[in-house]
Amino acid sequence: MPYQLPDEDQNLAVEAFRKFLHAKIKPVVKEYRDRFIPKEKMRELTTQIAEFGLPGCTIPVEHGGMGWTYTAQGMLFEELMAVSCDLGICVMINNGVARRLLSAPPALRDRYLPGILAGELFGCAGISEPDVGSNVAEIRTRGDRDGDHFIINGEKTWITNGHYSDFIICTMKGEKGLSHILVDRKEHGYETRNIEKIALNSQSTAQVFFSDTRVPDSNLIEGEGDGLKNTMKMFEMARGHVGMLSVGLMRAALEDSIAYATERKQFGKVIASHQLVAAKIANIAMLLDASRLMCQRVFGMIDAGVRCDLEASMAKAFATESAVKACREAVQLHGGNGITKEFMVEKYLREAIIIPIPDGTTEIQRLFISRRLTGVSAFV
Ligand SMILES: Cc1cc2nc3c(=O)[nH]c(=O)nc-3n(C[C@H](O)[C@H](O)[C@H](O)COP(=O)(O)OP(=O)(O)OC[C@H]3O[C@@H](n4cnc5c(N)ncnc54)[C@H](O)[C@@H]3O)c2cc1C
Repeated sequence: MPYQLPDEDQNLAVEAFRKFLHAKIKPVVKEYRDRFIPKEKMRELTTQIAEFGLPGCTIPVEHGGMGWTYTAQGMLFEELMAVSCDLGICVMINNGVARRLLSAPPALRDRYLPGILAGELFGCAGISEPDVGSNVAEIRTRGDRDGDHFIINGEKTWITNGHYSDFIICTMKGEKGLSHILVDRKEHGYETRNIEKIALNSQSTAQVFFSDTRVPDSNLIEGEGDGLKNTMKMFEMARGHVGMLSVGLMRAALEDSIAYATERKQFGKVIASHQLVAAKIANIAMLLDASRLMCQRVFGMIDAGVRCDLEASMAKAFATESAVKACREAVQLHGGNGITKEFMVEKYLREAIIIPIPDGTTEIQRLFISRRLTGVSAFV
């Protein structure tokens, strides 16, 4: 299905965003390479990024967003992710939270959405738990009714933005099944602990702990018991965006590889003129282009209001696995320099390895794809 091409205004906005990212954000990314960006500093960055339309790009104008298409938003995300996967994942989660708030009761939406769109507040989505990853239906975090409140007990893990978060949209299990509820860190209380990883350490991936956390039922997002259905909808929306993280990484790997291959000389000529090196450039470019097209097709289908769970799973699995291959090629192309901190490609590879895991691993995407095509489940 063809996707709606961005108009001239949108193209100009993408261009302006690219210039801003290279001038203002790239130096900060270098300064904090592999180091945690403190919340105040992160907020300084997210508020500047918000002026260019992320995370509010597709949020309707009447709710404070720009009302643009997902296709145009995908282009903005690609620019951000090509400069920083850490910032990309942080803003991407706020983007998902903003969309989720559109389904919240108006009072709740109007209290939190403006801060998220301005880049001043950090939200997060708490689904995964220490014993619950791929099988969301098994969630153990309890939300037990006490009159018009819920008492929440349990632990979430791998929560992007967790340590920064001002609030969490928590998936909890109660009498009616799974539900989503907004828990405010200051008002209702929860604890977080950041997790060190092989990469993406400039942003927060955290554990979140609830201990007799008392939250009014007016903080429920959509109906009690609707959590599983809504989590699946969230995944469908998220997968194209996670794919874009990998597109951004491949774009950075390609740009760095072209610069290196046209500069570095061996056997008396630039290495780009050696055919096996030229093939690496072509391989990275093809993986990037196919992945971008698959993700943009998903955004085009979302814009058209067409179901795209199959396409989203294919885009997520293909783009994220392609980035691992592409970044590996980029490291090899850089020779010994590729594994040093002088160059960025080793960082891209470490980041690329992470992205096939969140929002349904590659294995889980393959199971979805096969089930949609055959009608037969191979999950258990
Ligand atoms: C950087 C990062 C950010 C994240 N952000 C968030 C977030 O913001 N919020 C959130 O809730 N979660 C988040 N997650 C968690 C993520 O969604 C889970 O890690 C993911 O769903 C996999 O769960 P798991 O790690 O428990 O692996 P498991 O489910 O334990 O899987 C382990 C391995 O077994 C495979 N496997 C499992 N079941 C099957 C099966 N039926 N058939 C074949 N293979 C199978 C998996 O593919 C994987 O290779 C994040 C994770 C990462 C790495």
